Amino acid sequence: VPDHGATNPETPKPKKKIAIMTSGGDSPGMNGVVRACVRMAIHLGCEAYCVYEGYEGLVRGGDFIRKMEWHDVRGWLSEGGTLIGTARCMAFYERPGRLIAAKNMIVHGIDAIIICGGDGSLTGADRFRAEWPSLLEELVSTKQLTEEQIKPYQSLNIVGLVGSIDNDLSGTDATIGCYSALARICEMVDYIEATASSHSRAFVIEVMGRHCGWLALMAGVATGADFIFIPEKPREDNWREEMRSVIEKHRKLGKRKTIVIVAEGAQDRHGAKITCEMLKDLLADKNGLALDTRITTLGHVQRGGTAVAYDRMLGTLQGVEAVKAVLEASPETETCFIAITENKIVRKPLMEAVRDTKEVAQAIDMHDFDKAMALRDHEFADQYNSYMMTTRVQLDSEMVLPEDKQMKIGFINVGAPAGGMNAAVRGAVAYCLSRGHQAVAIHNGFAGFARHHDDKPLGSVRPFDWLEVDGWASKGGSEIGTNRELPNDSGMDLIADLITQYELDALFLVGGFEAFTAVSQLRKARDQFPSLCIPMVLLPATISNNVPGTEYSLGSDTCLNELVNYCDKIKQSASATRRRVFVIETQGGRSGYVATLAGLGVGASAVYTPEEGINIDMLAADIHHLKEVFEHDKGQSRAGRLILVNEKASKVYSAKLIADIIREEAQDRFESRDSIPGHVQQGGVPSAMDRCRAVRLAIKCIQHIETYGRSAHDRVRDDPLSASVIGIKGADVTFSPMKVLEEKETDWPNRRPRETYWTDMKDVVDILGGRPSYKKPE
Ligand code: ATP
Repeated sequence: VPDHGATNPETPKPKKKIAIMTSGGDSPGMNGVVRACVRMAIHLGCEAYCVYEGYEGLVRGGDFIRKMEWHDVRGWLSEGGTLIGTARCMAFYERPGRLIAAKNMIVHGIDAIIICGGDGSLTGADRFRAEWPSLLEELVSTKQLTEEQIKPYQSLNIVGLVGSIDNDLSGTDATIGCYSALARICEMVDYIEATASSHSRAFVIEVMGRHCGWLALMAGVATGADFIFIPEKPREDNWREEMRSVIEKHRKLGKRKTIVIVAEGAQDRHGAKITCEMLKDLLADKNGLALDTRITTLGHVQRGGTAVAYDRMLGTLQGVEAVKAVLEASPETETCFIAITENKIVRKPLMEAVRDTKEVAQAIDMHDFDKAMALRDHEFADQYNSYMMTTRVQLDSEMVLPEDKQMKIGFINVGAPAGGMNAAVRGAVAYCLSRGHQAVAIHNGFAGFARHHDDKPLGSVRPFDWLEVDGWASKGGSEIGTNRELPNDSGMDLIADLITQYELDALFLVGGFEAFTAVSQLRKARDQFPSLCIPMVLLPATISNNVPGTEYSLGSDTCLNELVNYCDKIKQSASATRRRVFVIETQGGRSGYVATLAGLGVGASAVYTPEEGINIDMLAADIHHLKEVFEHDKGQSRAGRLILVNEKASKVYSAKLIADIIREEAQDRFESRDSIPGHVQQGGVPSAMDRCRAVRLAIKCIQHIETYGRSAHDRVRDDPLSASVIGIKGADVTFSPMKVLEEKETDWPNRRPRETYWTDMKDVVDILGGRPSYKKPE
């Protein structure tokens, strides 16, 4: 175990003691938080403590507050729930309980506490902090502690982390655990859909969320549910007729299954609860839809299981940020919690978030639903609109554009398949239908487009069929077919001709680096072929996540989940022969993103990326470290150790060679094996996150295309954004002009963006994996 805790002998200050606690309902990812906080604290020269059983442990003190060592949290990333326990603590609601808690903290010498929990837990934390000076006063005046004892603890240093499956805290896009819960729900709905479709049944599915409809809403988007009910946006008073007409329409179009998702706290505009039984009766009504209807209440399965890759990443990065925040805090610093906005981890004032969250609940109670929606984040409103636009199939005549604004949009998938491609096409098609656009499928990429009229057609060009597309929400692969061929290979003159021939007003592309290259070629050819002066937008989709203009590509989340599951299983397989190192080769092309993020999710001992390369010093340092680790391993954990190697990290050091070298060096003190998951990484069913983001981003793409309208050739030629890439960049969703990306932000030979935003994450993997530093290659 590396010596992370060494204090500088020249400044013999006592080490700071940082405690971490989980509270409220458990959520997947909490163990990742604890692991990250404990190890980061030790890494930064502090002592790490855990408070067991939430506030209950703080009130009881004694053995509930325990010092943690580096190896105590080994293997925690893969465990569900919270291993340090959580509880609902009545005593902490009252001042006397909080008084004892304050005393226990001081007695144990705790300088700072990181609390991971839901809005209740953070409300408690905020109250505790506000009261702290008066609690100290009382402890002294009642002679429980002396002035001397309380002196170093004049202000309470607290940082909040939001661990909750409901995603109900204002100010953050996602809470730790919410995407795992959503993944469980989508998995269950996918199962139910199969039986619903077989019997042509309707199912009413209740999901968690008393004051927050995030889970119900996102599950609705991800699964393409027919109708949803959420607390913060009740339907209009005629919701019974609306539900009936939407479902009737879907059934008339040939749909064999009906899924209605209801949040626990769903209600009508007057506050009357909407129950599953009520909905079942309506759907089954003999004089109405007369559907054979069943109810499924998902209950606690939503909390269960191990965390998805995203929650492991979120818990780990936020845990690290929380430790930094407590160490940087001064008595004047406002108490913060760690939030995420789109893709950016930020510190935000805790009090404000707690207040806004309470306001949402109050607004719902007061039936001020516009306010409740306004207090949720952007993504929530976006997803609500996405849901409404993709499920109603031209019910709103006000949604349909005037005829001269309706466009004919060609849909094309380019490159390797990635999870979420179909969901993106489905979302965009549904949106097009509701606006009156004509969406046409170009099958099998540019190759299919160029050769569809041959004797043996490779592809075809045809309008989408709503019913067919509606079933694609959860489908992996690419239903319209994809191909790596680029327009220049097919013949740009032919592609330009076909665009004229089919009178396409715009192109919507979904794909990875090939698709990016395709848009670049099309843009450059505009001067030569005026028919290419149409808006074209790329929605990045590739497991490698190497498209310039975005920090996230569809499919990368699905891939990470596959890798994390694969690694968990491999690790477990070592339980019989504990002393084993697995060297796992990941895909990702010349981008180390997937290897690094998977390493973050499984707690890899080392990650080798193409950006950094592999050299002999690095291998030697890592092998030396492994020898030390196995020498000191007293059997704390039965799982093996993992090294992740990107497929192109080195031309010479392959996963197999690295495993062989390690085995040779280990001299029977431990074992080493290589393992290549290969195409498993493309994933089967796309992840819930990829599905939801696919719909949201695809709709934004078509809305962007819409701003140009038909026959806007001159405007298109002069507007850099008319050939663009949609992306998530930091805290924003943006369109980047292709011209700027291809000239300034693309590392063409390496097929990746010039800047890698995830470099810091690589450092986190190394630090938390206890990896020694080595001399980096020049
Ligand atoms: P979840 O979102 O899963 O419900 P939560 O953190 O909101 O999680 P709660 O049961 O509301 O769960 O809160 C957890 C604990 O936090 C409570 O048992 C109590 O000890 C403490 N707590 C909650 N609200 C307050 C409050 N207003 N004052 C003091 N302590 C509180």
